[in-house]
Amino acid sequence: MKIICIGRNYRAHAAELNNPVPEKPVFFMKPDSALLTGNKPFFIPGFSSNVHYEMELVVKIDRLGKCIDRKFAKRYYNEVTGGIDFTARDLQDICKNEGNPWEIAKAFDGSAALGKFIPLSKLTNSSSISFSLQINDKTVQSGNTDDMLFGIDELIAYVSQFMTLKTGDLLFTGTPAGVGPVVLNDCLTGFVEDKKVFEFRIK
Ligand code: ZN
Repeated sequence: MKIICIGRNYRAHAAELNNPVPEKPVFFMKPDSALLTGNKPFFIPGFSSNVHYEMELVVKIDRLGKCIDRKFAKRYYNEVTGGIDFTARDLQDICKNEGNPWEIAKAFDGSAALGKFIPLSKLTNSSSISFSLQINDKTVQSGNTDDMLFGIDELIAYVSQFMTLKTGDLLFTGTPAGVGPVVLNDCLTGFVEDKKVFEFRIK
């Protein structure tokens, strides 16, 4: 499986990192070794002194598809959850300045934390999905798919022009505003609507 992550998909988050609002989706990849599941702790890696959380809605692809038409994209997913796109912001800034790829900042072990999946049928409103992140019981990020620059179906259509989507692939759909650093012993709790999808500690 592969993990596809969308960058700059919320206007306010693009602005907080001084990035322009993109005209087309921006995406990058994480390897399967980045996955962090089962509420296992996230260990701050020694190579970064500024690891940020980015809470994102994550879509699981459940059908093989290539060049998927936007109007059929809904047929390719049935479950969502929340996830954290952990980012070594200090390394990412160096990569950006040097015009290099982002892998050392985005694709390291444990950098794709994943909650438990919820079928769309269990959501109150599957066309307008809210999600949020609490750190130590305080809400630090909240988002809604309504505020995405490019919606889930549009992202699937776009990405599948370039690469075949396979069953089990994951799509991290971008983070809303409010990203920030994680600190030792923080407790991160993720919600999709009012459903808790993960809870784990920073070690
Ligand atoms: Zn992200």
